[in-house]
Amino acid sequence: MKLFGVLGDPVSHSLSPAMHNAAFHALGMDCEYHAFRVSQDNLRDAIHGAYALGFGGLNLTIPLKEKALGIVKPAELAEQIGAVNTVDFREGIVGYNTDGIGAKMALEKRGIKVRGKRVLLLGAGGAARAIAFQLAKDGAAVTISNRTIERAQTLARDVSRVGSTRASGFDDLKTQIQDCDILINSTSVGMFPQVSETIVTSDMMHRDMVVFDIVYNPVNTRLLQEAKKAGAKAIDGVMMLVYQGAEAFRIWTGRIPPVDVMEKAVRERLK
Ligand code: NAP
Repeated sequence: MKLFGVLGDPVSHSLSPAMHNAAFHALGMDCEYHAFRVSQDNLRDAIHGAYALGFGGLNLTIPLKEKALGIVKPAELAEQIGAVNTVDFREGIVGYNTDGIGAKMALEKRGIKVRGKRVLLLGAGGAARAIAFQLAKDGAAVTISNRTIERAQTLARDVSRVGSTRASGFDDLKTQIQDCDILINSTSVGMFPQVSETIVTSDMMHRDMVVFDIVYNPVNTRLLQEAKKAGAKAIDGVMMLVYQGAEAFRIWTGRIPPVDVMEKAVRERLK
């Protein structure tokens, strides 16, 4: 039996155990995945303990992703992003960040290639950092727009090392939306319990755009409802969650992840 787990504080809400256990079951693998509540002060001991116990791998969630950088050997992208969400033990203790690739693959699943596209990314927090680095590396022109403009400027400066990016505040959002191909909400606005909130409404959108909300609780956010009203293509946050997990699964096991099974497990839990 091989053990895997997610460490966080809090962690009881995590959908990762259901998603990964469904994948292990579907592939007939003798593996189990559990959630462990770990404080920031205990993170080093927890990671080294899991390594010593022969765990197959770990995920990290809030507030541990940044703290882990000083504990694991980060892969290049995780170091650039400044956060680790996946720890692999096959060759020492190596940290990855799969959030950005999760977002990119969620777009690709709906037939959207990011190369050459104008992306307006709302937010400059942890998820936004991962998405901005990934999409800029993949050839998108990324405008990072954040309520606190200084955070957008810092992120844009960091991301400019790998691709095309600029920063803005929320002034003149309507013009920026008219000029973009893909709008991504990576703020927490619209997340339960503030489900009626949105930064962007249908009158600011155009029908040729894609609106991707990474918030997945609820799945059909107010922003996505506005996108449908505007005739835009609406993409929910579930597939980003699934693909970041699928990429972690691939790193740990070398197996092709059963993405459909993982998606079903997550959507069932979110109902
Ligand atoms: P975070 O680091 O705390 O960042 C929060 C971001 O939201 C910041 O940019 C913040 O702006 C902005 N924000 C918060 N309240 C706002 C408001 N009232 N008006 C405007 N902006 C506001 O959070 P995170 O880890 O990046 O997560 C963000 C969201 O993404 C969460 O809902 C999370 O569940 C979701 N998420 C989804 C996935 C997925 O796989 N689908 C993965 C990761 C995260 P300021 O800088 O101005 O405070």
